[in-house]
Amino acid sequence: MNYKSTRGESNVRETEALLKGLANDGGLYVPETFPMNSLTYEDLADKNYQEIAYIVLQKFFPSFSKAVLKEAIQSAYSQSNFDTLDIAPLHSLLERVSVLELFHGRTQAFKDMALSLFPYLLVEARKAEGETRETLILTATSGDTGKAALEGFKDVKGTHIQVFYPTDGVSPMQQEQMQKQEGNNVNVTAIRGNFDDAQQFLKRLFVDQDMANEVDKKGVMFSSANSINIGRLAPQVVYYVATYARLVDIGAIHKDEVFNVVVPTGNFGNILAAYYAKMMGIPVGKLICASNRNNVLTDFFKTGVYNMNRPFYTTLSPSMDIVESSNFERFLYYISEQDADVTKKRMADLKATGELSVSETEKKQIDGQFAGVYCNDEETKAIIEQVYNSYGYLLDPHTAVAFGAYMKELHAHPEDGARHTVIAATAHPFKFPPVICQALDIREGDTPYDSLENISAVTGVAFPKPLEALKDKELRFTKVIDKENMRHEILDFIDTF
Ligand SMILES: *Cc1c(COP(=O)(O)O)cnc(C)c1O
Repeated sequence: MNYKSTRGESNVRETEALLKGLANDGGLYVPETFPMNSLTYEDLADKNYQEIAYIVLQKFFPSFSKAVLKEAIQSAYSQSNFDTLDIAPLHSLLERVSVLELFHGRTQAFKDMALSLFPYLLVEARKAEGETRETLILTATSGDTGKAALEGFKDVKGTHIQVFYPTDGVSPMQQEQMQKQEGNNVNVTAIRGNFDDAQQFLKRLFVDQDMANEVDKKGVMFSSANSINIGRLAPQVVYYVATYARLVDIGAIHKDEVFNVVVPTGNFGNILAAYYAKMMGIPVGKLICASNRNNVLTDFFKTGVYNMNRPFYTTLSPSMDIVESSNFERFLYYISEQDADVTKKRMADLKATGELSVSETEKKQIDGQFAGVYCNDEETKAIIEQVYNSYGYLLDPHTAVAFGAYMKELHAHPEDGARHTVIAATAHPFKFPPVICQALDIREGDTPYDSLENISAVTGVAFPKPLEALKDKELRFTKVIDKENMRHEILDFIDTF
């Protein structure tokens, strides 16, 4: 299968797209021919996660041999990486509401769903492309991608990984997970600023030919583990397909029955994966895009205008503190009916003015399929408390934003109540001990671990093993730099290879 860029560059091999991450013209790779309506329940019935993963992924990566893809899937979605056989279990919260738990991987966030598999795809792509240079994965993280990418790539031969996280925003637990990272091919650096600063810098670096030449002389090429990479996006489609199959398997919906999906959104990767599943034939109804106070997407779905000229807020759901959602470009591409010229022009507008808009016709199209809703921090805490007190189920702050968005949308459209709704749960609540303590009025300890002991004692929720083990590990990466020095940091790291 060939890929093309949302801005026009075409005829790119899938392994090339995987390896490069971002197209030369600055666009994002999308399949040249999308596998539209290529899935039916009959293909999926009674299959397990790994089997469904194979069915979905071979549509995006048909050049991979069956044996290679199957082995990658078995290794990625194994019992050493996930603490449940279901991989992405559905928790039935209410009669028509299921929580899709995406936090059972090694780092307790949904990023593990893709980043457990992605390194295998990348290693294979290196082989297929005859790439002999070392691959340096550059990653900007709003909190969870960094750790998941570090775990996925640690000590993978031929690869190195550099993670940048912003000092403003990531939770203490997220920071500690990264600062204590193990492995001999990893580097983690904090930058003064916010996530958008880090992400913008890396996006520019990927298309900087001088830098590419400079590192090429050192026998190195860059790649990205951010959700702009098609190797991140495709594995995320799997759990929406698997969820549909499971809902039908257990009789929660009929095979032709439409269900809604609520996704706590930052970079628009996870919700785009749900949209991909819909385009592939899964009967997804409304996609509810949940945001925190950084509600640029809520405003877009209301008005058809994406306006980045606004303040950036740090919130209790840091992985959604994003104003420039990079996967939104892929969405623009599809709603323009895959028109690369239009998409390119819109992205140029966005760059020039900080703003872009869609046409009336496109807006109508979007209205039938998407809704944007946001919750602020006070609401987020209230929801954690309310859901815990009512149903005994503990939400992390990101998932709480999604639950709040579901409630608000239901209030505005009571008819939605007749439909089954799936809420994507993107992180384990134990990644955010201060918020949980505040929401449930539990005493905070001197360290995050003490707080978690208290939360565990009150709620009975077990400590995820990897978080417990973190306590006694040593701090390895505590450097903080200005964003102007990111380039230097990368070159210094390369000199240690
Ligand atoms: C990354 C992340 C999000 C946002 O996902 P996108 O794909 O960037 O929209 C939401 N919640 C958590 C916990 C995350 O780690």
